[in-house]
Amino acid sequence: MNMGTSHRLSKSRFLAGLRCQKSLWLECHAPELADPVEETRQALFDQGHQVGALARERYAGGVLVSEDHLHSAQALDTTRRLLAEGVRCLYEGAFWHDGVLVRADILFRQNDEEWVLLEVKSSTSVKPEHLPDLAVQVYVLRGAGLPVTSARLLFMNKDYVYQGGAYDLGELFVEQDLTQEVETLLPEIPAHLKVMRQMLAGPLPDVPIGRRCAEPYQCRFFGYCHRSLPEYPVTELPRASADLLDSLIANGYYSLCDVPLEYPGLNDRQRAVCYLART
Ligand code: SF4
Repeated sequence: MNMGTSHRLSKSRFLAGLRCQKSLWLECHAPELADPVEETRQALFDQGHQVGALARERYAGGVLVSEDHLHSAQALDTTRRLLAEGVRCLYEGAFWHDGVLVRADILFRQNDEEWVLLEVKSSTSVKPEHLPDLAVQVYVLRGAGLPVTSARLLFMNKDYVYQGGAYDLGELFVEQDLTQEVETLLPEIPAHLKVMRQMLAGPLPDVPIGRRCAEPYQCRFFGYCHRSLPEYPVTELPRASADLLDSLIANGYYSLCDVPLEYPGLNDRQRAVCYLART
């Protein structure tokens, strides 16, 4: 199997590309421009790993594909071997289809023709970005020959109260079936991939900064893209909608000092902030 190296995609790169084409281009062509990993972000990664380990205890008895992201070819081999041996539950299984590599948090076999995919999140609810996350995995898993019939999210139960001792894993997690929502997104995946590959074959796309740079989480290239912003950037306008921010930037207003006070869409508080920025 030729995984190639030029524009190799993964689940995280696919999701980055959906959010912002520039971030996908930078991930593939200039990853060294990413911001250094801060302690808070590292703590989130660590928390995610702990939640993943607890989720595996919740679905005990599976086999872990332990090869990391630097050894994807070996992870694919191990996954293939385990499936051929009839494994019933797999953690971090590696699958490759249509130029995309995914690692599935938990997969378990319901019967010979039906597998369940579980994506583990440390959030306390289903978020919009979780749907394409599951959809691209189902696309790759099915394309690789695994008959996935159910796509579910496993997230933290916000009402769980720790009583001391071992966690009650049945109570700690909430499992939600999102198969129907995922099925509606699946037909769009090939078109997204095509657009991403075409974009990656060209120069760095010119994408203006906007709300997407910080939401739902801060982009890895935030520092690079915001390096030449003025002292009071419009991105600091309080409670600015994505539409308002995009409109300001598209019209060339990068500094709060330059935004006309009568600019359409500003509320009283935002207008006051613009006024104060220039005094
Ligand atoms: S910081 Fe914003 S514009 Fe830059 S790559 Fe990230 S999301 Fe795109």
